[in-house]
Amino acid sequence: MKVIEISRRRFLKGSVALSVYATSSLNAVTLIPKSITQPTNKIFNNLKEIPFLCNMCRNKCAGIARVEESIVTKIDPNPFFPKSRNMICPKGNAGIQALYDKDRVKYPLIRVGKRGNGNYKRVTWDEAYEYIKDKLIKILDEQKDNRSTIAYCNGEGFNKDEYIQFFGGKIGSANFLDEGSICLNTKLGATLLTIGDVGEMDVAGSDFLILLGANRFESLITPDSVDMARMQKEQKLIVVDPRATVTALKANEYLPINVGTDLALILSMTYIAIKENLYNSEFVKKQFKDFDKYQEHILKERYTSQWAESKTAIPKEKIEKLTKEFFDAERPLLYMGRRSVWAKNDFQLRRAMVLLNGLAGSINRKGGIIFGEPIKLPQEEINSPIYDNAEGRFDLDGVVYGSRKGGSWLNFREKVITKTAPYEVKAMFIRKHNLMQNMPNIAKTKKMLEMMELVVVLDTMPTDTAIMADVILPECTYLEREDKVVSFNRLEPSLALRNQVVQPLYESKSMQDILKGLGKKLSKPLFEISKKYDEDLQDSIKELGEKKAFNEGGYDFVELYKKDITQRNQELIEKKFGKDVYKTLKDRGVWYPNIDKHHKEIFNGVYEYYPEDKKFYSVDRKFKVNCYLKKLQKNGFDPMPTWRDEYDFKVAKDSFRMITGRYVMFTQSATTNNSMLRDLEHTNHIWINNKIAKEKNIELGDLVEVKSSIGKVKIKAYPTNKIHPQVVWFAHGYNSTSESMTNSYGNGANDNEIIEDKFEKIYGCATMHHTDVKIRKL
Ligand code: SF4
Repeated sequence: MKVIEISRRRFLKGSVALSVYATSSLNAVTLIPKSITQPTNKIFNNLKEIPFLCNMCRNKCAGIARVEESIVTKIDPNPFFPKSRNMICPKGNAGIQALYDKDRVKYPLIRVGKRGNGNYKRVTWDEAYEYIKDKLIKILDEQKDNRSTIAYCNGEGFNKDEYIQFFGGKIGSANFLDEGSICLNTKLGATLLTIGDVGEMDVAGSDFLILLGANRFESLITPDSVDMARMQKEQKLIVVDPRATVTALKANEYLPINVGTDLALILSMTYIAIKENLYNSEFVKKQFKDFDKYQEHILKERYTSQWAESKTAIPKEKIEKLTKEFFDAERPLLYMGRRSVWAKNDFQLRRAMVLLNGLAGSINRKGGIIFGEPIKLPQEEINSPIYDNAEGRFDLDGVVYGSRKGGSWLNFREKVITKTAPYEVKAMFIRKHNLMQNMPNIAKTKKMLEMMELVVVLDTMPTDTAIMADVILPECTYLEREDKVVSFNRLEPSLALRNQVVQPLYESKSMQDILKGLGKKLSKPLFEISKKYDEDLQDSIKELGEKKAFNEGGYDFVELYKKDITQRNQELIEKKFGKDVYKTLKDRGVWYPNIDKHHKEIFNGVYEYYPEDKKFYSVDRKFKVNCYLKKLQKNGFDPMPTWRDEYDFKVAKDSFRMITGRYVMFTQSATTNNSMLRDLEHTNHIWINNKIAKEKNIELGDLVEVKSSIGKVKIKAYPTNKIHPQVVWFAHGYNSTSESMTNSYGNGANDNEIIEDKFEKIYGCATMHHTDVKIRKL
């Protein structure tokens, strides 16, 4: 990114920072002289240990940051948090590098020259807000106050609800998108629609655990993974995966499976359980709805082990043995997954998995899918205007359920770029969401962004998406801000608070401060637009007068940010839970009922949070396991999990099915530039079966071209026997095209350059494992 400076004084300040941070893979203390740190807040001047919540992935483990002379020098796990159980993974430790990354966006920037060329001028915050205001006034005037012409998105993380309140509630757009439709919405939706809740999986309590493609020892190490690693001899772990992953190799049994055929395996296990009466009939009788229909359907379809062998390539004897062992176990659990959607049958697969867990009685009990008892936090009320001319969202057209909140990214993008949406989308606000790396078919994302009259990105890093923006607003990292207190977990519920560890570096700000500044600038001018086009508002002004109509109608966008986040957290917690709870949250970062009594170390570094009899394994709740979904049937889809021939694993001659995953060192593309993590896994390689590699004369480290119907990439080869001959794999999160991401620019290959953009029609989720590719040695 080339930044054209506008002030000599600021230029010097920026240059110093750049050169000082230039070799930032070293320890921050050795790098940053005291003179350029931020000694503005005295409490940070001495050694401090400040509890916070990690944001390097969605798990949100609790940590304690050691701060010396205003520098974060070390991160330790926080032993009080039941969710993270005294663990911080390598990514969590590398959070220090996210803070001190020399490539961070340091001050507000406005694009000069062509979109995507990476040329920006440094501006003040006010100049950035002014630019956004002028553009929005013009757009909304042309669109006659249709607020939905401003789309906005936010990836996973805290404060998402507040971001929605601002752009959805206050500004009034219907078009919010998040990561759900390129992540695990089918799993969440299938569980919700089948048992009325998304639940939580009690991995530690299970004595027979099946993982379908969940590579928990290699792609995501969270406390759940630690529970799996700590499984005792009497507990069994079975892994089903097209690749012999590290997780597979550590399991009691590994079953290789054809890509996209997991549903056939689960349907066959269901068939065997029903046919041979292995299931928990008492639970089924009490909790299942329409079981007779499901039973009849499964038996009629004859999902035998022999049939499943022909689909999955798992020998029928193994399917039969697996089923018997699963139903013989005291507390079996078919792990519901924590990953993106792979095949177009994903929703049906997740439904079949919940139903199989239900057949084993593994719902609302120890070792199963549990409902538990989360601690309820009070909601802050916000007065939102009603905009008469704001049109509805269109991305869920043609999708049966979809997420009303996070929508369907691929459907949205397609309608925008083909101009088949009912109205034009002219502006986009993007926060914590690297669209140019994380959505299949990057060329289409680029096209969509090029069509916008205004793109604003709030981010800490100059990502591939940031360099497509007109305005880049530097958000501070999670270590530089306090966030809203959050309620976690169901089995061992707790509240946790992300404290601010250090002051924001450079000119970065928290999201709340950014929206406050933007709100101040926008409230009145956008109200003027509504006055011009909104007849209801015109009537209201006649009746109440302009001042009252503005105030009572909720048009003041700053309303939410009149108090700072610390004050809001304090009031929220003290009002419902009292002063002591707030103090505990500030001091320890975590609170749960009886924490002083129940929290104890039971072994070196291993803690008990709740005594066994106080954990919420089972709760008194009315629920049904719904076998039959009428809405699906009405929309022409299978109301019960069903195999269709189109799901068969078939790959054209000389082609390979491309599958993707990730390394534990990276959280998708969000950590791609982190030099501490880069040191651990410098680049990605494509897995190719040894036999194929030999035929093509490809050796370890050779550069190969991987080509699909939408694009091609170059990547180094990793020939191995651990993958099916018709399948290739490489990890997501590599190769930034933004030159300002100096560690990840041009390094490795980005899977989304070649993954075709298809989505399933039940939740509108991108399906990642249906692309066939050709490979050749370069
Ligand atoms: S699993 Fe690692 S990266 Fe994720 S929140 Fe926990 S410590 Fe942070």
